[in-house]
Amino acid sequence: MPQQGDQQGRETKFIVDAMLGNVAKWLRILGYDTLYSKAYNDAQILAIAQRTSRLIVTNDRGLNARALKRGLMSLLVEEGDVARVLAQLASRGLISLDVDPSRSRCPICNGRLVLVTDKNLVRGRVPPGALAKHNKFYMCARCGHVYWEGGHWVNIRKLADRARMLMAQEFSSTRAVQGPAAPG
Ligand SMILES: [Zn+2]
Repeated sequence: MPQQGDQQGRETKFIVDAMLGNVAKWLRILGYDTLYSKAYNDAQILAIAQRTSRLIVTNDRGLNARALKRGLMSLLVEEGDVARVLAQLASRGLISLDVDPSRSRCPICNGRLVLVTDKNLVRGRVPPGALAKHNKFYMCARCGHVYWEGGHWVNIRKLADRARMLMAQEFSSTRAVQGPAAPG
C-alpha cells in the first residue's frame, strides 16, 4: 500500500464511495477537497481517483482491492460510525481533526467557503435570529449556501473530539501493550 504519512494535512484530496455520504460531508467540513456522488460506479471512482490523484475511501472490499492493484491510494473503512472513520484516517496522518470553519468546504457541494462579515450580503439567506446573533458568516462560492458558527458547531466539535479519543484508544495499537491486566 502506498505510504501516505508524508502528505500535508489538507492537501490530501478524496473521493468517497456511494455508501459513505456522511464521511464525505465530514471531510468537507474538515476542509478537504472531497468528491462524492451516489451516481459514481466503481469504474468511475477508479478513473477519477487515477486522473486527479485522490485517495479512495470505501467500505467495499472489492473496490479497495481493485484500487490497490492499480497502484491507487485507497482506504477500506467500516460503514456506520463516522467518528471511527475519521479516527482511522487521522491515525494514518491523512487528515487533521482540528475543526476550523475558515478552512471548511461546503458539505453540500465541496465548494470553497468565503468569509462574509457584511450582514447585508447574507440578509434574507439566514434566519433573522442567526443574523442578529452572529457577525461572521461563510458563503459557499459555488452553491451560495450560507453557514455560521451556530449551535451545530458544538456538535461538530464534539464529534471531532470523539474521533480524537477513538484514535488514541483504538488506532495507536503499536503503543498499546497486550497482556494480562495489571495487578490490582
Ligand atoms: Zn456549496
